[in-house]
Amino acid sequence: MKYISTRGGMAPLEFSDILLEGLAPDGGLAVPQTLPQVTADTLESWRGLSYADLAFEVLSLFATDIPADDLRRLTRAAYTPQIFSSEDIVPLRPLDGGLSLLGLSEGPTLAFKDMAMQFLGQVFEYVLEKRGTTLNIVGATSGDTGSAAEYALRGKKGVAVFMLSPHGRMSAFQRAQMYSLQDENIHNIAVRGVFDQAQDIVKSLAGDLDFKSRYRLGAVNSINWARIAAQVVYYFHGWLRATERAGQQVSFAVPSGNFGNILSGHIARRMGLPIRRLVLATNENNVLEEFFRTGVYRPRPAEQTYATSSPSMDISRASNFERFVFDLVGRDTDRVKALWTALPRDGAFDLSDMKDQFESQYGFVSGASSHVDRLATIRALYDATGVLVDPHTADGVKVAREFVEPGIPMLVLETALPAKFSETIEEALGRPATPPGNLADLESLPQRVEVMDCDEASVRRFIEAHAKV
Ligand SMILES: *Cc1c(COP(=O)(O)O)cnc(C)c1O
Repeated sequence: MKYISTRGGMAPLEFSDILLEGLAPDGGLAVPQTLPQVTADTLESWRGLSYADLAFEVLSLFATDIPADDLRRLTRAAYTPQIFSSEDIVPLRPLDGGLSLLGLSEGPTLAFKDMAMQFLGQVFEYVLEKRGTTLNIVGATSGDTGSAAEYALRGKKGVAVFMLSPHGRMSAFQRAQMYSLQDENIHNIAVRGVFDQAQDIVKSLAGDLDFKSRYRLGAVNSINWARIAAQVVYYFHGWLRATERAGQQVSFAVPSGNFGNILSGHIARRMGLPIRRLVLATNENNVLEEFFRTGVYRPRPAEQTYATSSPSMDISRASNFERFVFDLVGRDTDRVKALWTALPRDGAFDLSDMKDQFESQYGFVSGASSHVDRLATIRALYDATGVLVDPHTADGVKVAREFVEPGIPMLVLETALPAKFSETIEEALGRPATPPGNLADLESLPQRVEVMDCDEASVRRFIEAHAKV
């Protein structure tokens, strides 16, 4: 299995090569040259597997340059009941009205980013050790991604993490989660500014090619193919737990922002998993909902991107969307390149002539949810079932209900636990959400964070002083 760029300008590379890279050199994203296929018989033979062994089976189709014994060791180290507080790693719970909840948030940071990041932590350490090199991950976070990366990479050999966060702008729980880590290879940098300014510093440092190569800067952002591949696993797992026989169809509803999570569902479907519908749910920032409704993709400028109560879906452009469009236009790299070249100039592109295929060929439907919907959904679901969901998952539940079909299980992906967004839970129910028992006194632990002005030179000096060499 080799990987090429969606824009056609990259010689085919192995999984381990693209693992350590960000964008392809032509600005495109890495995708498999051909997608592996899983037959109904193979799928049936996977029914009894643990999550870790299922992850091995699925990931071995993508990471063909890692020997099987090594890969199995990595997935068994990543997906343990000690790291994920569920024996089944990803529990499936029935709700009401034909819905079930696929629990992707049992990991250390209580959000679905842990699912891919825990594997990434293992495979990064493995590949770096094999190549005898080191890596300094530099990133900016407004919450979920940064903490998931830190928990996955803490204590790992050959890698250090420098994570910028906006000083005073994360929830007390999110701050405690990141800043209480005492590992020598984890560096929290709180800059006096907003997330976008922190992100600009990261982009500027990564754009300084001399600095980048001298300090071997790396990234773990959502365009990393290894993350997409690791997420494919839980679509297979969800299908296996929700069905009893071959060919039975299941739909998935996915709270979406950067199009990373649901892209993995699309890949699973293309590999032969019997998925009927992929229900894409957005919040008020409905760039993607609009595309699947109209065929027009119109990313929004930052000033038209609202701060909502499902903040991890507040995106203006969907980084991973290019990989879906690549399939949509028949894997025509010239067409993808032309679309993304014209996008900054035109501000939008129009694929409405293909609109018929979105559902008939790819199973995609979409809907949007608002703050009022979110609160009402949290309340109604809690009253009816006793299950408390977080605001992002509530967006998924709200839109999922619009597409339920008799006899077809609808699995809503739980992208975070309610304790992580307790302010909104309090608004919905009049009382906060309690964190899991083992995290009850997280906020009283000592914190380790470097607070600095929001300027590139200070961050640069800090990295120079603390980078892994
Ligand atoms: C990241 C995130 C999302 C959005 O996922 P994408 O892969 O960006 O579409 C939704 N909910 C939560 C809680 C998240 O952390």
